[in-house]
Amino acid sequence: MTHLPKIELHLHLEGAAPPAFIRGLAKEKHVDISGIFDERGDYSYTDFWDFLRVYEAATSVLQTPEDYARLTAAVLAESAANDVIYCETFLSPDFCGGRDLGAWREYLHAIREAADRAEAQDGITLRGIVTPIRHFGPDKAREVALCAAETAGDWIVGFGIGGDEKAGKPKDFAWSFDMAREAGLRLTAHAGEWGGPESVRDALRDLRVERIGHGVRAIEDLALVDELAEAGVVLEVCPGSNIALGLYPDWRRHPIGQFHDRGVKVTVSTDDPPFFHTTMRNEYDRLSKAFDWDDGVFRAINATAAGAAFCDEATRARLQKRLEP
Ligand SMILES: [Zn+2]
Repeated sequence: MTHLPKIELHLHLEGAAPPAFIRGLAKEKHVDISGIFDERGDYSYTDFWDFLRVYEAATSVLQTPEDYARLTAAVLAESAANDVIYCETFLSPDFCGGRDLGAWREYLHAIREAADRAEAQDGITLRGIVTPIRHFGPDKAREVALCAAETAGDWIVGFGIGGDEKAGKPKDFAWSFDMAREAGLRLTAHAGEWGGPESVRDALRDLRVERIGHGVRAIEDLALVDELAEAGVVLEVCPGSNIALGLYPDWRRHPIGQFHDRGVKVTVSTDDPPFFHTTMRNEYDRLSKAFDWDDGVFRAINATAAGAAFCDEATRARLQKRLEP
């Protein structure tokens, strides 16, 4: 099953940057970020908050649209090598042009060009989800939402929120989500990773999202799990990320199996793969061993992901065709 065609709905573009790529860029720009790597050259951090620090240090060498074009090419080559045929990536105008609309458009243009080249070469399709950073606060999120609304279309297809879940409440960001919804963007939000089940309820009620990034801590409230199943809310589950950050001690004790068994629509993604020493193939391999999942389960998971993708219907039909055995 590790070689099945895959759909990935939850990937942070900067978070997917191969460490060697970031080191190369740092060298070109004469920036010293040696402190964020371990002796093997992998990203090194102690916990989630330290991870955010390392993440932002790595991201600091990505300074121009051309850097993002190269990043996109590097990330999609890695994804395609893991049989990913469609991927949605979080992009933040905070990192791409400092929330200036003109600059954001330039970054987007460069990223799309690189994505088009990857699609022609490797048959992998990329779409973008604009994402404010929660711990940067609601005011900056409004500026991000304006950038998102102005560039919504067939490529920027969604709006989400990432960053430190303990900063503020979902309702602080309702204005931004309303603006994105009115611009025709589909909505997701990180919740239920560092926040408990109530954070999932808050995101669903206050931001009216149709997917939840992670959402795994909903498992602590079985009534909520049944509500998620009933409402058809899709979880973008990133098991390797949760295990690397210490949310669950091992793959067997990750709740994705319980969600699946209770009828919740689960999908599988890598989040920030090199930070968590994982790949899509690795996720499938570990899950198949932990839960004895066969090809049929993974095909169903990818069918769910195709149904929940924020792309247009023609793209969805094309993906569904490629997922057929
Ligand atoms: Zn994430």
